[in-house]
Amino acid sequence: MLASQLYSPTLREMPADAEMMSHKLMLRAGMIRKVGNGLYTYLPLARRVIRKIEAIIHEEMVAIGAQEVMMPIVQPAEIWQASGRWDVYGKEMFRLQDRHQREYCLGPTHEELVTTLVHMDVSSYKQMPLTLYQIQNKYRDEVRPRFGLMRSREFIMKDAYSFDVSQEGLDVQYQAMYDAYSRIFSRCGLSFRPVEADSGAIGGSGSHEFMAFAEAGEAAVVRCHTCTYAANLEAAVPQTQQVPNADDGEVGPAEKVATPNAKTIEAVASFLQLPVEQTIKAVVFAAGETVIVAMVRGDADVNDVQVGKQYGLVDLEMADQAALERVGLVAGYISPLGLAQSDNLKFVVDESVMQMRDAVCGANEEGMHYRHVVPQRDFQNVDVAVIRLITEQDACPHCGGTLDFVRGIEVGQVFKLGTKYSEALGATYLNENGKSAPMVMGCYGIGVSRTMAAAIEQNFDENGIVWPCALAPYQAVIVPVNVKDDELMRAAQSLYDQFTACGVETVLDDRNERAGIKFKDADLIGYPLRITVGKTFVNGGTVEIKVRRDGTVSEMPIADVPAFVMQWIREN
Ligand code: ATP
Ligand code: MG
Repeated sequence: MLASQLYSPTLREMPADAEMMSHKLMLRAGMIRKVGNGLYTYLPLARRVIRKIEAIIHEEMVAIGAQEVMMPIVQPAEIWQASGRWDVYGKEMFRLQDRHQREYCLGPTHEELVTTLVHMDVSSYKQMPLTLYQIQNKYRDEVRPRFGLMRSREFIMKDAYSFDVSQEGLDVQYQAMYDAYSRIFSRCGLSFRPVEADSGAIGGSGSHEFMAFAEAGEAAVVRCHTCTYAANLEAAVPQTQQVPNADDGEVGPAEKVATPNAKTIEAVASFLQLPVEQTIKAVVFAAGETVIVAMVRGDADVNDVQVGKQYGLVDLEMADQAALERVGLVAGYISPLGLAQSDNLKFVVDESVMQMRDAVCGANEEGMHYRHVVPQRDFQNVDVAVIRLITEQDACPHCGGTLDFVRGIEVGQVFKLGTKYSEALGATYLNENGKSAPMVMGCYGIGVSRTMAAAIEQNFDENGIVWPCALAPYQAVIVPVNVKDDELMRAAQSLYDQFTACGVETVLDDRNERAGIKFKDADLIGYPLRITVGKTFVNGGTVEIKVRRDGTVSEMPIADVPAFVMQWIREN
């Protein structure tokens, strides 16, 4: 490719409205342009990177026996109504009507469509396992589209769906897909880990997210230093907290004490001169008419995702004063003591709280708390679950090792769906005994455009992008420092021809620009190798090769360059 013809309008200045480095650099390097909120055009350089990611994905999908299909983006409302998600999906779904006022959506994902498809043509156990995939634009009217391609409203996704006759079959497919994803992200040059995830709104029995580590990542991940354990913070299930006052002495009956104006945990603990570990904290959520009181130890925080999961709810909101009053709770003094659970009022108590002896909790009365509370003895008719957020001080739930928190970008996710969609949409098959059973499904997604952004987020410096070789839009750029010098240009052109003949993807910077400008653009776009044909060539027939990643420069006779470049690419 000749730089004079390449449509990659680079910018000198940092775009002011972009927050994340990947977004800024893609704009500056002339890779993308904004069309509207969360909508982007991919210019040639970006398109080439996307093609490379797609090629890696295709290879790995074929390797595990997945077959490519192409489903329509426009999906009829009926199939979403049948699964029950037409109403649940809410405002994130782009909806439209045709000329006959029939309703459709732009696919945010394709479980409904693929299940309907397979339902039509697969009727026997002999036709499974079956895994279908596609790479296609997806549409989500995100509440906060931001960070360029990281969270856009139209984005490129690889989505795959597996169909099996049993849970064991699904487990095998899931593992194959999990391994394929690990290979895909390794080949893309990402630093990542599969982390245990919550299956959330989509439903199902198991899930992992593939997290690319990056400071700017939106996701919080906890990971172990000793073993491979990693989890989305909200999906992590910490071990039970040690009881601070573990002596076995009898604890007298719960006793009401006045705690005037002590509405916070700190205030109560200090008023009663007790450690916060001995107090119980309540956080109240609302979901429609239902009010949920989540109780954790005073020194812990509530994991709202786990609370929601207890009751099959996805988006919990903090309860307001009116909601509290409606069910008889007194803010600041909340307690399950003396209040019965009902359809409208749920108490979910953390495992660790149930281990406490001689604790303090509210009395549901202004200015009053109970002390000498033994939750095992005194909390009647409450739900018990692990609902506290893990901390960096916790031990690894798998091996007891040391944990730390890191930020991540979710580049992919795999789900064991089970029979949720096949049951809802009637996708059944006849098993070996001639009996009808629902297909057991898995679904698997990769954010292709987000992967490109994540690769930049992990690979840049003050001068621009530093592409992992496998994703670079071009592997090398040849820079003749003066295009008016015929001898230099002939040498550069000859190198370019040799590179191209060997299959090295190369840009020849034939623009009539100062060398400094060409070098700046080369660094900004991030070609892994830069070959400069300049003074040393005139003086001694040598050229300069610069490796973008570590800045090392070597000089060699021009005749040696093609072999060197070929080998470097093989090794990187
Ligand atoms: P997130 O939690 O980041 O909103 P998600 O869990 O809703 O993502 P999935 O339904 O799992 O996303 O979609 C599969 C993949 O598609 C994600 O792992 C992510 O890489 C990518 N993706 C999802 N939403 C977007 C978006 N708005 N822009 C770009 N990529 C996205
Ligand atoms: Mg996801």
